[in-house]
Amino acid sequence: MSNSRIITTDFDYYAPEELSEALKLLTREDARPLAGGTDLINNIKMDNAEPKSLVYTLGIKGLDFLRVTGFLEIGAAVILVDIEHNTSVVRKCPALAAAVNVIGGTQIRNMATLAGNICNASPGADTLPVLMVLKSEVDISSLKEDGTVTVKTVSVENFFTGPKKTIINPGELVTAIRVPFAKTGSGQSFKRVSRVGLDIAKVNCAVYLERDGNKLCTIRIAFGSVAPTPVRLGTVEDLLTGEEMSEKLISSAVEKVARELRPIDDVRSTAEYRKRVAAVLLRDAVTEAWAQSGGR
Ligand SMILES: Cc1cc2nc3c(=O)[nH]c(=O)nc-3n(C[C@H](O)[C@H](O)[C@H](O)COP(=O)(O)OP(=O)(O)OC[C@H]3O[C@@H](n4cnc5c(N)ncnc54)[C@H](O)[C@@H]3O)c2cc1C
Repeated sequence: MSNSRIITTDFDYYAPEELSEALKLLTREDARPLAGGTDLINNIKMDNAEPKSLVYTLGIKGLDFLRVTGFLEIGAAVILVDIEHNTSVVRKCPALAAAVNVIGGTQIRNMATLAGNICNASPGADTLPVLMVLKSEVDISSLKEDGTVTVKTVSVENFFTGPKKTIINPGELVTAIRVPFAKTGSGQSFKRVSRVGLDIAKVNCAVYLERDGNKLCTIRIAFGSVAPTPVRLGTVEDLLTGEEMSEKLISSAVEKVARELRPIDDVRSTAEYRKRVAAVLLRDAVTEAWAQSGGR
């Protein structure tokens, strides 16, 4: 392992302004997109990545939009501070604002992007459980043979194939992320536990729910840092869906989470601690989301 302050490998650096140029450069052997670099540059310094070319994405024209339509649409070149301080994000996607807000410190959030958080595919990345429960999508752009840009859309849930692995192929770039807005009568929450504020989560959890009177008509639950990729907890969701909200119901979900999760021991935590804390986070997240939905 090399010194964490020195880059020991050579690579070519490109800063294209046009998307088509960037996509062409990304077809080169071992080319990687470079956004804020808060993950990738560290990985290069630690010899965990050896790209032959880096293609800087934050200078590409047309990728720095944050649009509020029926969705929240976030371009790949938008830095995290611009997301966390956006009033539409805070009002319409509060769990996303909360997750972005805990990433690193201000310096990190002034450089890092949401696209980078997603594409780095860390099992403990903070925005991923939220994006999953909100049923978010990413646009992936590439070049067709005739040189024009084509875009495919995939759900965040289908984006991860393993720790630090995604469905992205050489020559492809995430260009936008689309997050549905909170509906009336819905609630959403993000919770996490980490060693210190600046550290990656030991466990994180997101909940989205819709309420009809005292009944939970929809609930989606996702955890990070408990499996090789962030995961939805379908069996716990099934247990809660269609039920009258009560302390007893939440307790049964909490018990099930502790039984279902199979986390591992690693440098940040033990499996046992993760299981216990996941149960506490679920209780807090469901309680907060329920209150936000107007439920008692
Ligand atoms: C001190 C410190 C604290 C941190 N704390 C947290 C934390 O609390 N929570 C957390 O989740 N993360 C944390 N991180 C990790 C990191 O800051 C985030 O994951 C950040 O969002 C990465 O964004 P970036 O723009 O810097 O990505 P980069 O480092 O530029 O890229 C990350 C990966 O994504 C790829 N990539 C980037 N953009 C695209 C794109 N548009 N299309 C396809 N691939 C792309 C790159 O090739 C690379 O593989 C921390 C990092 C540091 C250094």
